[in-house]
Amino acid sequence: MFSAKKQGRHGGRFFAEIANNDQDRKALYIQNRLATAIKEQQIRTWFQPIVDAHTLRVVGCEALARWHDETYGWVSPATFSPMAGNRGLIREIGQEVWQQGIGSLHRWSEMGMDINMSVNVSRRQLFTPSFTADLLEDLDRLAIPVSVVDLEITESVAMEDAEHTTKRLAELTKAGFGIAIDDFGTGYSSLSQLHDMPATKIKIDISFVRRAHAEQGAHLIQAIVKIASAFKLQTVAEGVEDAETAQTLRNFGVNKLQGYHFGRPMTAEGFERYLVDNLRSTEPTRYRLMSTWSG
Ligand code: C2E
Ligand code: MG
Ligand code: MG
Repeated sequence: MFSAKKQGRHGGRFFAEIANNDQDRKALYIQNRLATAIKEQQIRTWFQPIVDAHTLRVVGCEALARWHDETYGWVSPATFSPMAGNRGLIREIGQEVWQQGIGSLHRWSEMGMDINMSVNVSRRQLFTPSFTADLLEDLDRLAIPVSVVDLEITESVAMEDAEHTTKRLAELTKAGFGIAIDDFGTGYSSLSQLHDMPATKIKIDISFVRRAHAEQGAHLIQAIVKIASAFKLQTVAEGVEDAETAQTLRNFGVNKLQGYHFGRPMTAEGFERYLVDNLRSTEPTRYRLMSTWSG
């Protein structure tokens, strides 16, 4: 059914057709395995460093879902998230990522390493009635200050039902959470809606960062930074893959940087070693790629 729906309305697909196609077979397999994977705790939280654009010191991380499957290895959320949405499992995955994320944050704080954490939030999670209260309770239990958590909402989720979303985001910012608009500029941005949105940060999408060295691309990023500053929002650039791009973005006034140049998403253990190295080193510009993840 999902495969038929993906091709548009008034269509149909035969199961045998799907079962014979490698891509489709993988999708089918993943859908069937996902529910079990969640129950068996095969969903893991990985962490990618976020650095201050000026000091180049690590100031935070983004928690990213990873699924290790015995047949396909590490599966990216780009593959399994849409399927999780279909099956109503996205909320459970989000919950799993959150619990592991704050567990690690607590551990690092006990080790004297206080950093911020960004967590991606799906539409379903955001509109769970007890969402804010549940998060606050979890943080309280571990004595983690609310202000170190940024909730990332994609632009398309933020703008789709703006009135409803604005209310929920106002509740979250009032409670002290940071709100980052993820994949900014790739959805249906509406500046008037952005103006009313209780957000604290904009994440500049990788598609803009990739064009930072072309004249028009550079103008676009500078325009986004200006919009952000007019709305008193901070900027975080995603997908920074080399030193030159990092320098360019810093010159444009981007506040924080994230990307393979500073570190790929890594396991909790890997990120802990990264943190220790980065925070104790006197040369924060010496980066290491510490992960085997290439997706
Ligand atoms: P996102 O939130 O925009 O995350 C950034 C994505 O860019 C991540 O992909 C990250 O691995 C990738 N990335 C970071 N730096 C670079 C770089 O320098 N070059 C390139 N080419 N890519 C880079 P990932 O982990 O595959 O996640 C994809 C998307 O899945 C995320 O996009 C997010 O929207 C979603 N996602 C991930 N984890 C969760 C989760 O726990 N809950 C929800 N609701 N969504 C999640
Ligand atoms: Mg994100
Ligand atoms: Mg993004």
